Amino acid sequence: MSLQVLDSFYEGKAKTLFNTSDPTLIVQYFKDDATAFNRQKFGQIAGKGVVNLAITKALYKLLESKGVKTHLVDTLDERRMVSRRVEIVPLEVVVRNRVAGTFAKRYAVPEGTVLPAPIVEFFLKKDELGDPLITAEAAIAIGLATPQETQDLDRLARQVNEILKAFFLALNIELIDFKLEFGKLPDGTLLLADEISPDSCRFWEVGTGKKLDKDRFRQDLGGIEDAYAEMLRRVQSAT
Ligand code: UDP
Repeated sequence: MSLQVLDSFYEGKAKTLFNTSDPTLIVQYFKDDATAFNRQKFGQIAGKGVVNLAITKALYKLLESKGVKTHLVDTLDERRMVSRRVEIVPLEVVVRNRVAGTFAKRYAVPEGTVLPAPIVEFFLKKDELGDPLITAEAAIAIGLATPQETQDLDRLARQVNEILKAFFLALNIELIDFKLEFGKLPDGTLLLADEISPDSCRFWEVGTGKKLDKDRFRQDLGGIEDAYAEMLRRVQSAT
């Protein structure tokens, strides 16, 4: 691919985005920087960028094979992904299979409680406000998405959940919850964007309940690099 990488146009918490010689494509550089609790906690997880890109690529290929469209085009090397340029929908879409994180806190429900059916939640992507929970109705009312888009986001998130839950269970990992971001092409097509990795998912080992995700960083559990490497090993054993 004779793509030239040009200037950076966005510095995110975990990734830096670059323009390229093709205006329809961007390059995402996956960093080792880690943040939590709306940047109140920050640090580095050695090798995280490499793990997150490899896992995201494997999962996006799996999802594409099942008919879920993603922004993935290719990789340039182990830290750089070429992806379609999209307009990011300003909603984070969270799917939960078991109670954890902010859901446990918000409703005072014990972590690990199994939910009778998956729950989909929307959060407004706005750091200044701390990414508050938002209803589909409010998101529509303030012009963040159309009614059709909120329905599509909900449906796609549930479809991704079913595919990933089954994939990870075969690796002896329970998918507890995860966050998705979506982007729109100029014609309005919704694509899965950003990443799916131990940064954006909760993974518990079946049987032991061992956490193999960013909660090891959030909760200072230690063994962070090993947990990320273990998730990569399992994903690569299946793809
Ligand atoms: N999540 C994420 N980015 C965010 C917020 C949440 O990737 O800005 C992921 C998180 O890793 C977890 C799921 O979304 O897998 C649900 O997170 P929750 O709302 O419980 O918030 P958290 O405990 O991560 O603050």
